[in-house]
Amino acid sequence: MTIEQSDCLIIGGGPAGLTAATYLARFHMRVTLVNDGKSRALLIPQSHNLPGFPEGISGHDLLLRMREHARQYGAALVDGRVDDIRRTATGFVAQTQDGAWSARAVLLATGVTNRRPSLDDDTHAEALRRGHLRYCPVCDGYEVSGQNVAVIGCDERAVSECEFLRSFSDRVTAISTVGDDFPDDLRHRLERIGATIRLGPITAIRLSVSGLEVAAEDGVKNYDAVYPALGSSIHSSLAKELGAAATEDGCIEVDRHQRTTVKHLYAAGDVVYGLDQISVCNGQAAIAAVAIRNDLSAEQQLSWPPAARQAFLSPEPDVGNP
Ligand SMILES: Cc1cc2nc3c(=O)[nH]c(=O)nc-3n(C[C@H](O)[C@H](O)[C@H](O)COP(=O)(O)OP(=O)(O)OC[C@H]3O[C@@H](n4cnc5c(N)ncnc54)[C@H](O)[C@@H]3O)c2cc1C
Repeated sequence: MTIEQSDCLIIGGGPAGLTAATYLARFHMRVTLVNDGKSRALLIPQSHNLPGFPEGISGHDLLLRMREHARQYGAALVDGRVDDIRRTATGFVAQTQDGAWSARAVLLATGVTNRRPSLDDDTHAEALRRGHLRYCPVCDGYEVSGQNVAVIGCDERAVSECEFLRSFSDRVTAISTVGDDFPDDLRHRLERIGATIRLGPITAIRLSVSGLEVAAEDGVKNYDAVYPALGSSIHSSLAKELGAAATEDGCIEVDRHQRTTVKHLYAAGDVVYGLDQISVCNGQAAIAAVAIRNDLSAEQQLSWPPAARQAFLSPEPDVGNP
């Protein structure tokens, strides 16, 4: 099996990975991005909070443009799933079913997956498309201004989302997923914002003509929009395999240059602790790309054409505070 050699291997082709690929390719670095195509951005019917897209853009179209951008500067985009990764004397080797990739540095941009309420895939996709099912109040609270919204969940996360959504609508309902009541402190916070409280268990969620119906002990109620606040599974297993530190809930720990605790292993996007937003992914990816370029160049580990390399061996340029 041939092992493809790169300066940097990026695992994950969502906004974070693709932004870093464009930056690194424009630094004349050999970049390979391996992606298994399950970006959360693909679930975005239309994003209206992305700077530069006043008319809004679907996640699908955004990723198409970002892929084209990275390819334009020579980044190699590969479909596949990295199942295994290990350190070597010169960097890392990552394994997919179709091949192996080695690189001096690796950027993990593997994202997270939202835990879903019990809905079949078609209903889930249709409810998202119609805007009746939403996962991110920061992204689209504005679009539900004044509407009848519900949050499904029974912990701190769910109550915080209710409090956040209360600044967009005075009709907010918290529906606990289990039969138990909310703990006193959380119930008090919900009462303070005038939220309606419904106790689970939720027996059914159905699409209606105008929204989503949620059935529970107290009957069936229809909402214009429902936000599941059920947490996420964080895709940090590769980082843990390499011994990189992670937070209790699994986010990869990084420093202000997006460096993990493992040398030449970096991480950006939803998989690291922070606000899960595309603008944040792009920012973290830019910071990681500059740190990767600088760290490898500091060890003269970059394989540029002689001319570029000669130009580079001059004193390190001041690129702000990377
Ligand atoms: C319904 C919805 C609406 C949203 N709306 C907005 C919005 O309006 N504005 C906004 O800023 N944000 C929005 N978001 C959030 C946004 O989608 C995420 O913040 C963003 O996609 C995170 O980017 P990422 O690159 O970190 O991860 P992702 O986009 O999730 O990409 C990670 C990629 O890594 C791949 N991957 C994982 N493991 C492996 C592996 N082992 N090998 C190969 N590939 C792997 C996955 O397949 C995936 O393609 C929304 C999210 C949802 C669900």
